[in-house]
Amino acid sequence: MVLDHDTELSLQAAAVLANSALPPDTLERVEDLDRFWQRFGYTGRRDGDAAELAAVRALRPLLRELLTSERDRAAELVNDVLARCGAVPRLVRHGAVDWHVHAVGSTEPLDVRVLVETAMAVLELVRLDEVSRLSTCADDGCDGVVVDLSRNRSRRYCSTTCANRNAVSAYRARRSAARAGGGPQGPPAGR
Ligand SMILES: [Zn+2]
Ligand SMILES: [Zn+2]
Repeated sequence: MVLDHDTELSLQAAAVLANSALPPDTLERVEDLDRFWQRFGYTGRRDGDAAELAAVRALRPLLRELLTSERDRAAELVNDVLARCGAVPRLVRHGAVDWHVHAVGSTEPLDVRVLVETAMAVLELVRLDEVSRLSTCADDGCDGVVVDLSRNRSRRYCSTTCANRNAVSAYRARRSAARAGGGPQGPPAGR
């Protein structure tokens, strides 16, 4: 799979935003948006006010839908977003990144840029038939979006918290099965 740097970052950023809406909400203050901005190295327009925060918060259900829809539905959503936002693809070169496509100007509001960038990234996944890179967390109690860009498609959990929790419970299940004399094939305990 050949995804450019911006596409991978856009997918990861969109997943972080979508997952921030899961309880407890982790995008409630302007400072939370500051952290997101810094983490993903955004540049361009930043209002830093309550209206911008509200717009980004309101975007999250659509981001989740873009990241979790099956391929045909994702294609429809992408087309709809790009048309509605008046996206215009252009070749750009910035920083150390060689020529690649941006479809939204850097002076557009942050929520519009995140939305168009997410749509362009999902466009790539649809085009490459790689929508299966997107899924929801394998943890029973978690609806987190998972973006798996690993070579061997090994990513199943939305976060290290979910991965660790499941590793610990799998370990406990194996250990108590072994103690009960059931060995590794025994049924998982504690369920
Ligand atoms: Zn770029
Ligand atoms: Zn999770």
